[in-house]
Amino acid sequence: ENVEKEEDEAKKKGLLDKILMIEIKEKDIEEALEDLELELLEADVALEVVDELKDRIKRNLVGKKVRIGTNKEKIIEEAVRKAVLEILTPEKKMDLLEEIKKAEKPYVILFVGFNGSGKTTTIAKLAHWLKKNGFSVVIAASDTFRAGAIEQLEEHAKKVGVKVIKHKYGADPAAVAYDAIQHAKARGIDVVLIDTAGRSETNRNLMDEMKKIARVTKPNLVIFVGDSLAGNAIVEQARQFNQAVKIDGVILTKLDADARGGAALSISHVINAPILFVGIGQGYEDLIPFDERWFVEKILG
Ligand code: GDP
Repeated sequence: ENVEKEEDEAKKKGLLDKILMIEIKEKDIEEALEDLELELLEADVALEVVDELKDRIKRNLVGKKVRIGTNKEKIIEEAVRKAVLEILTPEKKMDLLEEIKKAEKPYVILFVGFNGSGKTTTIAKLAHWLKKNGFSVVIAASDTFRAGAIEQLEEHAKKVGVKVIKHKYGADPAAVAYDAIQHAKARGIDVVLIDTAGRSETNRNLMDEMKKIARVTKPNLVIFVGDSLAGNAIVEQARQFNQAVKIDGVILTKLDADARGGAALSISHVINAPILFVGIGQGYEDLIPFDERWFVEKILG
């Protein structure tokens, strides 16, 4: 008798659930999606990424059954978070320290990015971080073009206690990088960081220069350094570099000054490479491994 009663209760509950559940329709979330679109565009997220996000949210929500009375905003907010996190999370997480440990010495990292993006500072920060983690480092001064570039790099390198391999201004950047690798090989140095130029001139094609350096040095990793304050412009920059030399990872600088951070979302989607680190200040300690969850909080609050 008891069993029957329980079955009865369960049936009733099932029926009640059916009555109390409603299916989310596209029109239920349209307005919220439009608001979100505006917010994201204001935060400097590229249009194609906004569309991708909206698609993901729709796929996630339309047709889903929820209990009557459930807070609609909450459901949408959850879906937005999930979609942003999906876009930011790389298919394969990279553990740089492990990669370096596994690879044949020296591990070569080629840095590309436009002038002023924070490339030189970032190289010094990464050198500092690698040293802290027990690796020896040498830097190649392959921006042989911009006046002052070599001295500036040397100054940073001195402060973090790393040697710079350099030639004269106007020298072949690929040859400098090659020398740095030979230097590292001869001395058993773990990592070579290659600084490069960040501007084209009429007589000099930056992308061809990057291709040549990559051909000569066969880097284990190509990192694009982008200034998050430049907003969507860095998505275009990354695209250009990515066509010349395949970008494996991104470092975004000046995130301490960029409250919006939308470019980060765009970049990882558009070039399909993970954000490895973010710069959050001018000091050598101000480089932190990228954390998607931290970032979602930053842009969605
Ligand atoms: P490069 O031309 O790309 O080599 O750029 P630099 O490394 O010379 O950096 C340009 C300026 O940006 C310098 O004043 C740096 O101190 C500053 N910078 C670099 N990274 C960051 C960062 O994460 N936060 C802040 N606030 N400033 C940064």
